[in-house]
Amino acid sequence: MADDAPVAIVIHGGAGTFTREGMAPEMVAAYRSTLREAVTTGHRILKQGGSSLDAVTAAIRIMEDSPHFNAGKGAVFNHDGVNELDASIMDGSNLAAGAVAGLQHIRNPIDLARLVMQESRHVMLFGAGAEEFAQEQGMELVSQDYFYTERRWRQLQQTKKLRLSGVEPKIFGTVGAVALDSQGNLAAATSTGGMTDKQYGRIGDSPIIGAGTYADNNSCAVSATGHGEYFIRAAVAHDLCARMSYGGRTLAQAADELVNKKLVDMGGEGGIIALAPNGDIAMVYNSEGMFRAAVRTDGSVSVGIFDDED
Ligand code: ASP
Repeated sequence: MADDAPVAIVIHGGAGTFTREGMAPEMVAAYRSTLREAVTTGHRILKQGGSSLDAVTAAIRIMEDSPHFNAGKGAVFNHDGVNELDASIMDGSNLAAGAVAGLQHIRNPIDLARLVMQESRHVMLFGAGAEEFAQEQGMELVSQDYFYTERRWRQLQQTKKLRLSGVEPKIFGTVGAVALDSQGNLAAATSTGGMTDKQYGRIGDSPIIGAGTYADNNSCAVSATGHGEYFIRAAVAHDLCARMSYGGRTLAQAADELVNKKLVDMGGEGGIIALAPNGDIAMVYNSEGMFRAAVRTDGSVSVGIFDDED
């Protein structure tokens, strides 16, 4: 019966260089509380019989609306001081997918990615064309001011200064979600502001189906976060599913090989969250930490940031 069917959801809020010592306790608390809110909101939808697509969309919206994560409201600035946002979503039941990139006036890019999937003839729309489509679909545009946060602005100035002095800073972040619903359907979604100080027009892995996002009921659902240039070249999200479907790996084996071997060998920093059709979950990263949370099939909830947590 659908009521007893296992459901699960895993989310991330980006991987990167953060340590307990380097983060103010009130920031840690704020991250934890938004992660918990996002994951439990998604889980509630699943428990009520809602779809994995609805669960991942709802969880991502909450993180996009928070100023803390690099997506939606909290998006980072590019080199020119502009916010450019990317997102994607995929339905594991039929391999339908939608993606958007280079958005400057969309409050919740994940909603637009979903509209592209469900209401357009295409998989991916970019920039002004994507925003025109959003308006046709009845979405309101927001001004760039909406995305201004002092913290991100300071981060951009610091990043530029570091680069001038020859240091290559690692400032990224992204939000993502994967879910398994009571019908046995998987879904994955990812949303990001990209990388601080990125070149105008740069697109990372997050909106690339097969790199930052992938879902297939026959193997897994995955959302990635990290240095996008590496994740695109490693085709991370699809490779994870491929290792399971024709490599015979379990989710844990595939995730470990990919993140701790393939990406490490290439020099690619970051992580993934993933979910298998049997409810197995993976939250694996090769950076110092990853904002993450999960509600497993047994209903247990975990929220973690640092390396020494679940
Ligand atoms: N993967 C994102 C990008 O390269 C950034 C991140 O996940 O931290 O745009």
